[in-house]
Amino acid sequence: MTGWVKIVGLGPGSDGLITPEATTALAAATDIVGYISYVERVPERSGVTLHLSENRVELERAQTALSMAMDGKNVVVVSSGDPGVFAMAAAVFEALEHGPRQWHRLDIEVLPGITAMLAAAARLGAPLGHDFCAINLSDNLKPWNVIEKRLRLAAEAGFAMAFYNPRSKARPEGFETALDILCEAVGPSVPIIFAHAVSTNDEKLVITTLKEARADMADMRTMVIVGTSQTRIIERQEASPFVYTPRAFVP
Ligand code: SAH
Repeated sequence: MTGWVKIVGLGPGSDGLITPEATTALAAATDIVGYISYVERVPERSGVTLHLSENRVELERAQTALSMAMDGKNVVVVSSGDPGVFAMAAAVFEALEHGPRQWHRLDIEVLPGITAMLAAAARLGAPLGHDFCAINLSDNLKPWNVIEKRLRLAAEAGFAMAFYNPRSKARPEGFETALDILCEAVGPSVPIIFAHAVSTNDEKLVITTLKEARADMADMRTMVIVGTSQTRIIERQEASPFVYTPRAFVP
């Protein structure tokens, strides 16, 4: 008998943001597959085998999960946040499409999670209250000129923007360029938010403007949200401000 694969999102960090169905899947798994620091977030229990892998081997990890399910295992593949957002779900389907034909019969399910973008937006108020887009700033899987084009077009379209993977040690200059493009295309006084490690003990939120933003305000645990010309900041005494983008667009 074959087993199953559930591709599960663990949310942005805190236990309260893991869905009950993700918890149920983790409790039913014989095998848990994922990037080391995500698997480490899963509570230990006997009878489950953990398969920890390094970053950037998503396809291999997906193939392991699918072939274990063929052998009768009940496999949970974990991602942080939501598994469909720049994470393991697409990698599993890439492996499935190009793998052995019999994999297509497997019972495969994606269980959604709270993605970092929504967790960060909720901390601030409602910066994504009007139309927005989400962009992965990593150029591992796409050329940098495509990223630049999308930034300019998103700015022209008037979208608020949420950026994943804004900055790595390997390519700090990319994010600096992105900030320059945004400052010119969106406007220097538009709010930008750096939300670091949302819903963990290391959480830190910085609200500033594109003119004042510096590339070193972001690292790989930061979600960056850029508002629009309509985004508002409600200052409060002795409490952090609320940031929101009104529902209605006034041209
Ligand atoms: N599948 C994940 C995203 C994976 S890409 C999700 O849906 O959230 C990894 C990027 O997500 C990081 O570089 C960072 O930009 C963002 N991220 C993940 N967890 C975060 C958190 N707790 N706080 C802020 N950003 C986070």
